[in-house]
Amino acid sequence: MAICIHCQSPVSYVATKYSLADTRIELCPNCRKLSDPYIGKRNISLLKDLVVLKPGVLRHLLFNRADGVALSERFRLVSNGRNGRSNNHSRAASASFRSNTSGTIHLARLASILIVADAFVQWVHCLHDSHHSLTSFFDFLFTALVDAVAYHFGVIIAVRALKAGSHISTTQISLAILYSSFAKLFLLLLLVIADPSSGGHARHARQARQAHTNLLQHLYTALDDNQIDRPWIVNTIVGGMSAGFGLRVLLNTPPITSTLVILAGWATRSLALHVVQLYL
Ligand SMILES: [Zn+2]
Repeated sequence: MAICIHCQSPVSYVATKYSLADTRIELCPNCRKLSDPYIGKRNISLLKDLVVLKPGVLRHLLFNRADGVALSERFRLVSNGRNGRSNNHSRAASASFRSNTSGTIHLARLASILIVADAFVQWVHCLHDSHHSLTSFFDFLFTALVDAVAYHFGVIIAVRALKAGSHISTTQISLAILYSSFAKLFLLLLLVIADPSSGGHARHARQARQAHTNLLQHLYTALDDNQIDRPWIVNTIVGGMSAGFGLRVLLNTPPITSTLVILAGWATRSLALHVVQLYL
């Protein structure tokens, strides 16, 4: 179901394609603005707005990208002429199959890229940490895979249990988490460039803090600018907040619901990572 990215009203489609080079964006009947100005924009423009978590770009990617553009009668006839004739029923069935398959392939491709990027950033942060138990890139890759699968599993179960967004598919929930994690990855990459050794130093500081029994001393060292664990803060706090924001845009629920969903994802992820650390 396509929606207007400004007022979220459901619309039949947000644009009409008249030829390969001519796509016209429709006006929203509710707010009288262009339903989706992101139609036809390059991926780099979408990425720029995705990093700063603009709700409009998330709505475009989650609702309108797959089936928000209608084909004009003339364009459809030209396309059918190119692809050969077939009956209406088989054409509709194959279009539905293609839409589902392309959605799954897009999800798998995006998830693979983000898991590899996440593992790479964590690996670079720990390169200067000789005490870290994980040394191979593939250890980080495996951990990132388990982390992502457990997090998505926990979030999807929580969304279904809370009956939030019953018309939303599982693929859309996973895509919302993946799209909103670009902000977290961008900040982690900036940390790699600014201070590649921050992960190792901060981890030692965290272990030292855990040894302190005095609460005041613990708080003092936790807030020390030289010892603050920036990668952990970005990964956990910023990652959780951005995923919560992405899910709020998708599900259109109150903040408390998205907070509960994110907490369920955190709990599942922490449990899975604890099990993995027992074996690595
Ligand atoms: Zn509108």
